[in-house]
Amino acid sequence: YVFLVGGGSGFVGRELTRLLRDKGHEVTVISRQSGPGKITWSELESCGLPPCDGAVNLAGENLMNPLRWWNESYKKDLFSSRIDTTKALAQAIAASPSPPHSWVLVSGVACYKPSLTAEYTEDSEWTPFDLLSKLVKEWEASALLPENVVKTTKQVVIRPGAVLGRDGGAMKQMLLPFWLGLGGTLGSGRQPFPWIHVSDLAGIIAHALEPPTDTPSPSQQVFNGVAPALNTNYEFTKELGRVLRRPTILPVPGFVMNTLMGSERAVVLTQGQKVIPKRTLAAGFQYKYPDLTSALKEIAGS
Ligand code: NDP
Repeated sequence: YVFLVGGGSGFVGRELTRLLRDKGHEVTVISRQSGPGKITWSELESCGLPPCDGAVNLAGENLMNPLRWWNESYKKDLFSSRIDTTKALAQAIAASPSPPHSWVLVSGVACYKPSLTAEYTEDSEWTPFDLLSKLVKEWEASALLPENVVKTTKQVVIRPGAVLGRDGGAMKQMLLPFWLGLGGTLGSGRQPFPWIHVSDLAGIIAHALEPPTDTPSPSQQVFNGVAPALNTNYEFTKELGRVLRRPTILPVPGFVMNTLMGSERAVVLTQGQKVIPKRTLAAGFQYKYPDLTSALKEIAGS
């Protein structure tokens, strides 16, 4: 098959591209920059969708960009980089004379309201309650295809927790302080910490890109992209310290996180939600890293 990967040059996209190519598929990346194996977003808009069997969007300004202050222009870019690219792909699919058999959006678990007790599955009802949940709402809505294409194209939304891997995401910024023995729990530490190993997320996306086995349903099929193990921030912190053989005795209070990161953004670390990958498991997906120990050993050892 030929797959189109918006934002495929990033952390998750590199892992996905490697996996798809290993399986013998062809991958074209959509990027802001041109290069071999790539088209640009403006080429997509001017020339339309290149022939492909499946498309996925992973593009978006990084939520944890250490080079940017948390201000209105950053927040605007978080929204526009995700929504404009998703709209551009959905419109190109809708306008294509031969639309792909699958269209996948990777959003996030920020739609579920942080809670120490509530458990969320893909069936949980939710309404936006803060900045990031509003983002997820608008982002997923911008992926919806018009009625005439939904009969042939399967629409999937994958909601990942924190993506753990050596080459990007949260781990890239956490490994050094933890190595130096400066790691510690964030906030109370009791908050759930939904996570997934990048290799499993790539596997779930690859699975979603496969052609549908029967007539696609007209609505988006949602899959939670989290490991089945439910962990707290405390458990994550202690396990990372154990795997690295470093102490983790320096907790970072919630108000410090809020001051450093902006409270609207710090919620993803100081608060969390228990997310259950009910449909992902029901679909028969086999996790390579279902628990923290195996995931963190792979990341710290590689
Ligand atoms: P990255 O931060 O690696 O970014 C992916 C790609 O997005 C980049 O390679 C870049 O491609 C493109 N991009 C960056 N900024 C912009 C911009 N301002 N406008 C347009 N395109 C831009 O993302 P990840 O791979 O970590 O994540 C993939 C998706 O999964 C994202 O949408 C993210 O929100 C979501 N997600 C990630 C989590 C994580 O822990 N990593 C957790 C939950 C959700 P190029 O430079 O080639 O244009």
